[in-house]
Amino acid sequence: MSVRVRFAPSPTGPLHIGGLRTALYNYLFAKQHQGVFILRIEDTDQARYVEGAESYIQDCLRWAQIEPDESPMHQGQYGPYRQSERYAIYQEYIQRLIDNNNAYYAFDSTEELEQKRAEAAANKEHFSYDSTTRAEMRNSLTLAPSEVQRLLSSGAAYVVRFKVEPNRQITVNDEVRDRVLVNSNTLDDKVLFKSDGMPTYHLANVVDDHLMKITHVIRGEEWLPSLPLHYMLYEAFDWTPPTFAHLPLILRPDGKGKLSKRDGELGGFQYIL
Ligand code: GLU
Repeated sequence: MSVRVRFAPSPTGPLHIGGLRTALYNYLFAKQHQGVFILRIEDTDQARYVEGAESYIQDCLRWAQIEPDESPMHQGQYGPYRQSERYAIYQEYIQRLIDNNNAYYAFDSTEELEQKRAEAAANKEHFSYDSTTRAEMRNSLTLAPSEVQRLLSSGAAYVVRFKVEPNRQITVNDEVRDRVLVNSNTLDDKVLFKSDGMPTYHLANVVDDHLMKITHVIRGEEWLPSLPLHYMLYEAFDWTPPTFAHLPLILRPDGKGKLSKRDGELGGFQYIL
């Protein structure tokens, strides 16, 4: 099996040194194994989209002489390589999860969710939409099927949430951390899809890694907490997960948290988008 890795930035701002380092690890790993290095643009979050960010990312990679083998500019056989051009694919896969009872429609309004959060906060608790609370919410697990159909056909706003089974011990493998054990009771029912037709990062990322035949996912450690969900998604689709390696983060110069796209100027970098 030949190595296929990807760098999957979101065009939400300028690329910083942490992102470039992730690209470099992937690129060098691909070169070491005569593999393929892919650039995939993860632009499903339209609210955070920054004009010009994608071409800036491509310029940065060119500057570093990291040339992708497959990318939006250089199509291979697994394209399109921009997630905004792949919506029909995500529709199909979210439907599969709903049909298999791994995901469900949730119709709770922002106000209803706010109220739940406020009630929990009043008791010094934190509201989490999960196996302990979903039975009290307005979703396709609690509403009559006819009511769900009525809401869907009337164009009511909804999200699709992943149905996390309680009391499961999930073991994920990370090449850096080794085995990581997580109890599913600590995980919430993450939103995978919204009624505006947009998938969230988790669904789009897992579906694309599978369809693009990615063998190794090398990315920043900030994604390690998402790994149990990603494993459960692979399981729900009956797919074999790739190998994962989560790289330690580059921190802000003051050591307080990770370097973010907004911190460029702290390091004396000038971004021109
Ligand atoms: N779009 C994500 C990011 O910008 C990709 C994370 C991943 O590599 O899975 O960090």
